[in-house]
Amino acid sequence: MNPNKNAQLNETHDPLLTSWVASANTGTTDFPIQNLPLCVFRRRGSAQAFRGGVAIGDQIVDLALFENALDGADDAARSAASLGARDKLNALMDAGPQAWSALRLALSRLLRLDAAPRPELLVPQVEAEYAVPAQIGDYTDFYTSIHHATAVGKLFRPDNPLLPNYKWVPIGYHGRSSTIGISGDSFRRPRGQVRSGSDAEPSFGPSRRLDYELEVGIFVGGGNAQGEPIAAADAERHVFGLCLLNDWSARDLQAWEYQPLGPFLSKNFASTISPWIVTLEALAPYRAPWQRDAADPQPLPYLDYADLRGAGGFDIELEVLLETETMRREGMAPARLSQSNFRHSYWTVAQLLAHHTINGCAMRPGDLLGSGTQSGPEAEEAGSLLELTVGGKQPLTLPNGEQRVFLEDGDRIVMRGWAKQTGRPRIGFGEVAGTVLAAR
Ligand code: CA
Repeated sequence: MNPNKNAQLNETHDPLLTSWVASANTGTTDFPIQNLPLCVFRRRGSAQAFRGGVAIGDQIVDLALFENALDGADDAARSAASLGARDKLNALMDAGPQAWSALRLALSRLLRLDAAPRPELLVPQVEAEYAVPAQIGDYTDFYTSIHHATAVGKLFRPDNPLLPNYKWVPIGYHGRSSTIGISGDSFRRPRGQVRSGSDAEPSFGPSRRLDYELEVGIFVGGGNAQGEPIAAADAERHVFGLCLLNDWSARDLQAWEYQPLGPFLSKNFASTISPWIVTLEALAPYRAPWQRDAADPQPLPYLDYADLRGAGGFDIELEVLLETETMRREGMAPARLSQSNFRHSYWTVAQLLAHHTINGCAMRPGDLLGSGTQSGPEAEEAGSLLELTVGGKQPLTLPNGEQRVFLEDGDRIVMRGWAKQTGRPRIGFGEVAGTVLAAR
């Protein structure tokens, strides 16, 4: 299917593998034995230290216990498990692809149906709470969906929707890591300056155009020294894995502040990520060709590489759901707002890392890159309310009759992601959920 990536498949991807953890074998779980995503967790409400864990079905393998269960049989795996047992995954991220792969293989072998069950290594996910899995030194947000860039550009600049640099440069800006939270967090509606078109002067108050952005988060593994760019062909060896990212955005603050230097306070009040990081090794069978219209410029040489066109993308389905306070009170399931796919991205993960470092910028283990809002080519595949409501002009009607243009206090946004391919199990990202509280 993806010939360039078949070389990366190994026994851990065998679609026939099942686990002695029965909940991993349901066919509907996000976490079959072929996935094995990582998190940082502890028992909910306890004073335990946070430590690394790996999802299997509805359980977590406690890496602090797993390390001791390896009995020195495999030094590379034991060493990786030891790094993963810390309260942040940065040291494991820094250890590189061979260490990540050794850990994955050891986990896969220990969890297989034909291995001796070790239930004492497990913590049920329902009894766990999670933390941001890395000390995120720097956070950069990109803008890789041309469909999002065009739709938003039309709203902000009707005469000039897509700026001429878009098809040449992976556009991004430096965000802040200090307000990145973990799924389940809530945050207060931001306040700030806004000016609508007819007003002579700005006013100050709570944002009235609060939005979400459906993004993929990219955790950097091993970094690079300042002045030594990461080559595009080598870039994926520097990527630890992917998660889900909701980049909450205040559109009214954004419209007033974004020129000339880009987003600032409209973006850095809260961003929320899923607890689980799905490794690139787990995603190897779910790669997608990268395509560029013949009419568009082809990437400059530093953004081109051998695997780009064959399998540079990721076939990851993404969806956004909304649960209002009323729906929650009445016990209604969240309503789906849209569905999209990461394969539509105009730039690949490897291109983002190659571009980010081409000037000599240093990346460090645990740095986070945001993909930018992943809107698909169809209007209903938009990854933000700004697009779905056409700038707030066309309200959405929810299944219970409520309407939304932008988010209201009490609204909870849930994002999910998963990858599937014929003949292989579906692997999922879990979810990222976050709730809007009233402004202070
Ligand atoms: Ca964003």
